[in-house]
Amino acid sequence: MKLFHNAKFWHKGSFSNDVKAILTKQGKIEKLLNHIPEDTQNIQRVDLKNSYVYPGFIDTHTHSFEGGLYSLMIDLREARSIKEVLDMIREGSQNKGKFVFAWNFDENRIEEKRFPTRAELNSVVRDKNLVLRRVDGHSCAINSFACFNLKSAFRTIRCDTDIQRGLENDTIVHWFHNNIDSELILRSYHAASDLAIKGGFTTIHTMVGDANMSIGHYSLLLDHLNDFAVDYVLYPQSFNIEAALEVGAKRIGGCILADGSIGSYTAALFEPYQGLPIRGNLYQTDAYWYDFISRAHQNNLQVAVHCIGDRAINQINTVYMALANSDFRDLRHQLIHCEITDDTLINHIKASQAVPVVQPMFDQLWGGENGFYARALGKERSQIMNRFSAMVTKGITITGSSDWYITDLDIRKELDAAMNHHNPAERLTPAQAIDLYTKNAAWLSHDEALKGQIKEGLYADFTILNYDLAHPVANPLIAAIIKRAEVIHENFPTE
Ligand SMILES: [Zn+2]
Ligand SMILES: [Zn+2]
Repeated sequence: MKLFHNAKFWHKGSFSNDVKAILTKQGKIEKLLNHIPEDTQNIQRVDLKNSYVYPGFIDTHTHSFEGGLYSLMIDLREARSIKEVLDMIREGSQNKGKFVFAWNFDENRIEEKRFPTRAELNSVVRDKNLVLRRVDGHSCAINSFACFNLKSAFRTIRCDTDIQRGLENDTIVHWFHNNIDSELILRSYHAASDLAIKGGFTTIHTMVGDANMSIGHYSLLLDHLNDFAVDYVLYPQSFNIEAALEVGAKRIGGCILADGSIGSYTAALFEPYQGLPIRGNLYQTDAYWYDFISRAHQNNLQVAVHCIGDRAINQINTVYMALANSDFRDLRHQLIHCEITDDTLINHIKASQAVPVVQPMFDQLWGGENGFYARALGKERSQIMNRFSAMVTKGITITGSSDWYITDLDIRKELDAAMNHHNPAERLTPAQAIDLYTKNAAWLSHDEALKGQIKEGLYADFTILNYDLAHPVANPLIAAIIKRAEVIHENFPTE
């Protein structure tokens, strides 16, 4: 048994004075105490140094494999000249296997304003496959060793220019991902797990698979699930229902696409983009989604679909609504992103009981009167985006996430973005923001009897901050992470 004390504990929506200490037994919360017992023989006392204890935070949508993998690779974001690029690759390639991957390259930040040539790449990596990827992912450069191997695998690869674009670029990146061995896959998930813990999470939902027919390395990950510091909730990110059922998945989907993105003008809208005669694209027909989602539903799989524009959200929600009316099951189907919603659409989401899985950081990065969303969609429509407060007020359960690696995996930033929405009408209170990443998030994966609150009988999973969310501080810290009553990360303020 352990006794956690000397802290404020988040209980039933506030830092209540009713809880002064927590007694745990075998990783679970045994008892909430309204006093601090003095004589506690055989009980290990853990002093939490006057900090603030929240339920372990849960990020409900990440791409952890890519996030973890890229964190192990060569990040060229800071490079300012060709020489710096080459030095970073030379040094970074030392401890890599047969595949060296450098990313975040941006020729506009480079003195010479160009990509390195193939000869330059060969001068630093000669006997391993080297892929250097542009920051937006839409082009890359490779060394001669990689060219040779690619040419023998794919007839379409010509390798006659220094920069590979379009289909060649896609083939190369796909080839890189497919050639990663199990050891590096697991290393990537371990790196992601460590970053999640440091970012303040005890559980993260993660998308596995390439979104086409493959569920990727789902089984490999399943076999190693207990090895990671963080709890992973797995999604076979695929349209393959049979494969998902075969591995025993309880859900299917993730960023399987109903539409594209606002950045590439492919998010599907009811009204055209600002100043353009286009409304984005629906990637599949209504009939396609109806067939896919109802088959998953009949097999008791929770479904998650990426939908950003109002036309795409409406398309998916219409299917959820039809199933809720004809064959209700408590599966908690998800609308991933769910960014553009007028009041009518919000009413429809309430009726379908779908769960919007939102990204507060998207508003932080691209919202606001002068932000990218307002430029692409017009000011008026940018006011009906990421409507956290409107949805919560309606009684819709929403959950929060980073979509990492798209935005940072850091609970402090995510909560801050949820409370400080560009549109004052959509700001959440601290308690509402916390719910998105605790109670609601645990409920999303049907884990509400195990996680999401500081409550007797639940896991002793805590995220410990050096501040009360309602009173921001200059130096917000993730002071500690406690999982199943074990301190697995510690960074208490020094004085
Ligand atoms: Zn995603
Ligand atoms: Zn997505």
